[in-house]
Amino acid sequence: MIDFKQNVSLKDYTSMRLGGEAKFICFVTTRIELLEAVSWARNSNLPIIMIGGGNNIIWSDAGFDGLVIVNKISGVKISNEGSDNFYLTIGAGENWDEIVQQSVDLGLTGIEAMSSIPGTVGASVVQNIGAYGQEISNTLLSIEAFDNKISDYVILSASQCLLGYRTSLFKHHEPGRYLITAITINLKKANPIPPFYRSLQAYLTDHQITVFTPQVIRQAVQEIRSTKLPDPTKIPNCGSFFANPIISYQDFFLLQRVLNQQIPHWKNSDDSLKISAAWLIEFVGLKNFHDNLTGMATWDKQPLILINENSKSTADLEAFRDKIIQSVLQKTGITLIQEPEILPLVAR
Ligand SMILES: Cc1cc2nc3c(=O)[nH]c(=O)nc-3n(C[C@H](O)[C@H](O)[C@H](O)COP(=O)(O)OP(=O)(O)OC[C@H]3O[C@@H](n4cnc5c(N)ncnc54)[C@H](O)[C@@H]3O)c2cc1C
Repeated sequence: MIDFKQNVSLKDYTSMRLGGEAKFICFVTTRIELLEAVSWARNSNLPIIMIGGGNNIIWSDAGFDGLVIVNKISGVKISNEGSDNFYLTIGAGENWDEIVQQSVDLGLTGIEAMSSIPGTVGASVVQNIGAYGQEISNTLLSIEAFDNKISDYVILSASQCLLGYRTSLFKHHEPGRYLITAITINLKKANPIPPFYRSLQAYLTDHQITVFTPQVIRQAVQEIRSTKLPDPTKIPNCGSFFANPIISYQDFFLLQRVLNQQIPHWKNSDDSLKISAAWLIEFVGLKNFHDNLTGMATWDKQPLILINENSKSTADLEAFRDKIIQSVLQKTGITLIQEPEILPLVAR
């Protein structure tokens, strides 16, 4: 029997530690429990939001007048059919970084550069997580989910998930429709091959590392991240608060000329490039900016990370966010786009 807890503070279900209360919250550990939770919510006429570890969400101050389902569905199945290709089917509630560790222990490459990303496996496809040159989209084969629209479990292929830069079917096209229960990825038994992401390569060069195994890359990424990123269990934050803006080459060269600056950027596979949102925030003078009015700050080593120092509400966070967006817009003409979602979404 599922325990439906009532009037629960949602601060404990977001790494930003802000927000109101959920009318009900429950944990599901199996597909059958998920069916039970969904049917309970339907009978009670309550909307549903599924979450994992809460590392990429912020709750509104009004809270959520519905049922929050925390996904705790576990299990890992590995098959390889005698080749170098390994197929991993993983329960959506599994901890992402523990899965990366397991894959590296097996000598598999494909997700090792995404080490230390906090959160669950199911959420990894929601925003198509990525770091140091790898994205879940590079290895995803399919997902399994409960489809709220047809009230049944479905399998969606990777292409049906519409994964893009920090976006997916689940985040931007049909939020709330699919409750993801498992994902299947394809990893290879091989060593990672250069070229590596610029800052990762710089670390490898500095440390005179020339033999690349999945374990070596994982360790390098873990060390880089530990010096740059605040631990969300100690310092409330949601990681990168803004996505790197995507602009055309033409706009990029124009912007560099107007600002008279070299802007860090990465080429995309199409005719566009990503520019560094962290650089834009630093350029407008808001790196390591502590705002007494809102109790929020930007992290001293990475201004893309907004930290809650002693904020009282999500409204404070939003005011701080708007200050940054306005300042960057006025001085560069670029509009920063927020990465973590504020829940509940209005349309949900
Ligand atoms: C310090 C720090 C560093 C970070 N670094 C990175 C990084 O390098 N790269 C990166 O991409 N992200 C990064 N993030 C963001 C975050 O870790 C990822 O987005 C992660 O995938 C969130 O997982 P979660 O389980 O906490 O998701 P949650 O925050 O619980 O949920 C995120 C979204 O997914 C939905 N969701 C969650 N689980 C399911 C499910 N099973 N079915 C359907 N919908 C679901 C939720 O409704 C919500 O919309 C970082 C965050 C922090 C705090």
